[in-house]
Amino acid sequence: MSVIKALELFRKELGSEIEILADQHNGAFIEYAKRWTDIGRKTPAAIVVPSSEIQIQKTVKWAVENSVPFVTKSGGHSEWSTIDSSGIIIDLSKYSSIEVNAAEQKATLRGSILAKQVSVALAEVGLFTALGNGNPIGAIPYFLNGGASVVTSCVGYGSDQILSARMIDARGNLIEVTDSEKDMADLLWALRGAGQFFGLITELTVKAYPFSALGNDQGVIWTGVFILPLERAGEVAEAMNIVANDSTHPTSGLMMIMAPPPKNDPALVISARYRGNPENAAQAYKPLYDLNPLMANGAPVPIQNTSDGHEAFNEKGTFKRFATTCLPHFNATAIPDVVQLWKTMVTECPDAITTSFNFQWDSRLAPVPAHAPSSCSSLRDTRLWQNNFIWHTDVNSRNKVDEFSDRAIAAMRGDGERREFQNATREGPIELRYRDPVKLAKLKQLKQVWDPNGVYTRQLLDG
Ligand SMILES: Cc1cc2nc3c(=O)[nH]c(=O)nc-3n(C[C@H](O)[C@H](O)[C@H](O)COP(=O)(O)OP(=O)(O)OC[C@H]3O[C@@H](n4cnc5c(N)ncnc54)[C@H](O)[C@@H]3O)c2cc1C
Repeated sequence: MSVIKALELFRKELGSEIEILADQHNGAFIEYAKRWTDIGRKTPAAIVVPSSEIQIQKTVKWAVENSVPFVTKSGGHSEWSTIDSSGIIIDLSKYSSIEVNAAEQKATLRGSILAKQVSVALAEVGLFTALGNGNPIGAIPYFLNGGASVVTSCVGYGSDQILSARMIDARGNLIEVTDSEKDMADLLWALRGAGQFFGLITELTVKAYPFSALGNDQGVIWTGVFILPLERAGEVAEAMNIVANDSTHPTSGLMMIMAPPPKNDPALVISARYRGNPENAAQAYKPLYDLNPLMANGAPVPIQNTSDGHEAFNEKGTFKRFATTCLPHFNATAIPDVVQLWKTMVTECPDAITTSFNFQWDSRLAPVPAHAPSSCSSLRDTRLWQNNFIWHTDVNSRNKVDEFSDRAIAAMRGDGERREFQNATREGPIELRYRDPVKLAKLKQLKQVWDPNGVYTRQLLDG
């Protein structure tokens, strides 16, 4: 049956109950179809907007029974919550909530709850968890496929925080995924790092921590910015080499080759974080202060506000992408070459002036949290990244900007092993994202059990 025909039946059966948008010219349809990025964005046959768990389940069941392909959308920040007219989007915007259990230090997240909403609700009772750098990111997908954050070095990755889930599987069944039974424990293991490929998670319960785990009782992260001229790239790279590799201080952040708005004057901008006693930040960043930057500031910021002020980056539309890859080491000598690549790119593609080539570091490795059994993620040996932020407005620059970014990544990687991050890409050999062959074999076997026909993507089935 065609998707249009199937939709007609769905509308007859459930149209009065569940919102179904099928007119591409309708204002609501246009709004719901928008994404953080236009890269790869497609127009679906319909957008279904359920508002309860039972409605979500009915929608999945109908789609599975009628062989209608679908994708789920939470915060809409990936390139994968989009589908062409052969299928539909299940948009969770109307299903969103959080329940914090302060006594048991955990939180239950539902539907499309966003990262900022989670961090604010936790902070109200003196708790935090591992949340990423974007306030409007869907918290559930972020946790499912990895989740790097400013607190990785004290509590592990987002996927390490997952305690249990409620999931609609590829047959449309709603199941409780807990550690209590062997089958479910294996599935929970898979959700911790590859959860976007196993089902639609309606509810995720995650671990939270008291502020004291940050190394201060105020719930703050020291947050600072250093700005230096691009011409000093060599010296800055040497200073960053010291900071990024000094594990006596819990620092993390990004060194960005960019042209910060509003003036768009090219510069090296270091967005710096210090987790612990904020008074020690000056010592940790001494190599940068010693360079007498054009600007250097920093102050303790409540953890739930550390990603504020990025509103311009959060706007929907235009061509944006994080080209993120793990680095085996910091290749300081490559930085001047990367600066040159960035300069050439903005000369050839002036519309990409807001693109930045970024080195990201965490001075400490992620620990294995005491509460979490092993997960399928293989990020534990990673604390350095190239995290280029691609942003341009002209579609004709699409391939060229990616090519420059790839060359910058290759320069930073040098001869080092290639490792990819499962929250950043679905391209290339899956072995680069799930690098432990034993874990990968188990993941593929679990995919055969839970989703052999690739209802929730063909990841782990092909290749
Ligand atoms: C500005 C920005 C900042 C970021 N910062 C970080 C960071 O600091 N750390 C980090 O690790 N990552 C970061 N990311 C990556 C981000 O965490 C992932 O792309 C995340 O999957 C986006 O989730 P979303 O709900 O916003 O996107 P969506 O596009 O809505 O969903 C992402 C994927 O998950 C699927 N999905 C959606 N809802 C569900 C569900 N309930 N159950 C199962 N699958 C579902 C979708 O189909 C899609 O494939 C960042 C991305 C951006 C754009």
